[in-house]
Amino acid sequence: MADNPVIVAGAGVGGLSAALALAAAGRYVVVLERAPALAEFGAGLQLAANATRRLAKWGALDRLRELATAPEAVDLRAARDGAVIATVPVGESEQRWGSAYLVAHRADLLTALTETAAASPSIEIRLGCSLEGWHADGDGVLVHIEGRPDLKGAALVGADGLRSRVREGLALTTPDAPRYSGRTSWRALLPAASAPAAMLAPRSNLWLGAGAHLVHYPLRQASVVNLVAVVEDEWTDLDTPDFWASHGNAGFLASRFQGWSDDIRAVIAAAPEWRRWPLYERKAIQTWTRGRVAILGDAAHAMAPFLAQGAAQAIEDADALGLAFSAHPRDEAAALDAYSRARVARANRVQRASRLQGIVYHLSGPAAFVRDRTMRAIGREGMAKASDWIYRE
Ligand SMILES: Cc1cc2nc3c(=O)[nH]c(=O)nc-3n(C[C@H](O)[C@H](O)[C@H](O)COP(=O)(O)OP(=O)(O)OC[C@H]3O[C@@H](n4cnc5c(N)ncnc54)[C@H](O)[C@@H]3O)c2cc1C
Repeated sequence: MADNPVIVAGAGVGGLSAALALAAAGRYVVVLERAPALAEFGAGLQLAANATRRLAKWGALDRLRELATAPEAVDLRAARDGAVIATVPVGESEQRWGSAYLVAHRADLLTALTETAAASPSIEIRLGCSLEGWHADGDGVLVHIEGRPDLKGAALVGADGLRSRVREGLALTTPDAPRYSGRTSWRALLPAASAPAAMLAPRSNLWLGAGAHLVHYPLRQASVVNLVAVVEDEWTDLDTPDFWASHGNAGFLASRFQGWSDDIRAVIAAAPEWRRWPLYERKAIQTWTRGRVAILGDAAHAMAPFLAQGAAQAIEDADALGLAFSAHPRDEAAALDAYSRARVARANRVQRASRLQGIVYHLSGPAAFVRDRTMRAIGREGMAKASDWIYRE
């Protein structure tokens, strides 16, 4: 192992992207991942041009393209009858935003990132290593790992997700617990054989109803359809050990989709298993770093998923981190400060916009009527333009 690595806590999308960016900046990186294996959990992710452009830079996009799907468009539909209200032409992403728009299973994105990292002599991923704490001073950081010897490094990046230990230890603001959004997300993978043929077309679909919405798109060569339903719901237990593994009662979900199109109701009933997942956010803060320690990804800015930008923003963070280490090759604290300054305002803006989008999606009555009429009026070009500030970055 090279001396004085940059230590990254967490091998999710954010941590693996950070490792690739730091390696490209000439640093040796040790990634500590609490889980004993990089498990096949999660579901579909939409990856817009601001994410895929950076994956290409690190050499991970070609592998991802083999595993992902490129939808022709995103259709926004009315809950009652499925009529298309508006279309976002994401199939034109390369021309308009300069890079591809893809949908992939989260596990397939992790595969593309880990395979790319494995080809780098500057990245080491250590599984089954849970960060417990650290001590940082002017000379470096000493990271404490549960049941293992301490690890010394030049800097620590906490990419350890929503309930980040690193964020907790930095105490950048108080109070600072994850905040429940009042909504749960329900996720299922529907085998192609149980799906209506229209659902297997290479398009993303976003159905809008009062107090709920539902997204579906085909994944893995249209062998499955990724379903995500979001409803207003109660949740009190932040300590649920693994959100992803929480089973959902399809009867409850069906009750929230009464009055929706028969197609959607049939699909809700046909899904073999629903996972219920509470949506949390982190408070927006003005700095993500202190000395040689910083946070990245959901640890820094966990956001509502309504712009499909959480992972993309983690990827943007990683890129900024790599650029900051290139600009400050001998001063880790300066690099982390530059990284935080480069990213905080934009990530917080995307987080705010995501929350607002959730309100717009769940409108009812006259407000929903005005929303739909506005979307129809602005048309494809207007819908695409509304995403320029996010996807062009
Ligand atoms: C319903 C829904 C749909 C979404 N859809 C999209 C989408 O379409 N597009 C998009 O861009 N984003 C989407 N997102 C957001 C995206 O999933 C997250 O923003 C992204 O996965 C965050 O990545 P991360 O690496 O920061 O955190 P995580 O994926 O949570 O990874 C954190 C890692 O750290 C590890 N870890 C935790 N604690 C420790 C510790 N103490 N020591 C060592 N390791 C530790 C964990 O095991 C985990 O592997 C969606 C989110 C939701 C809820």
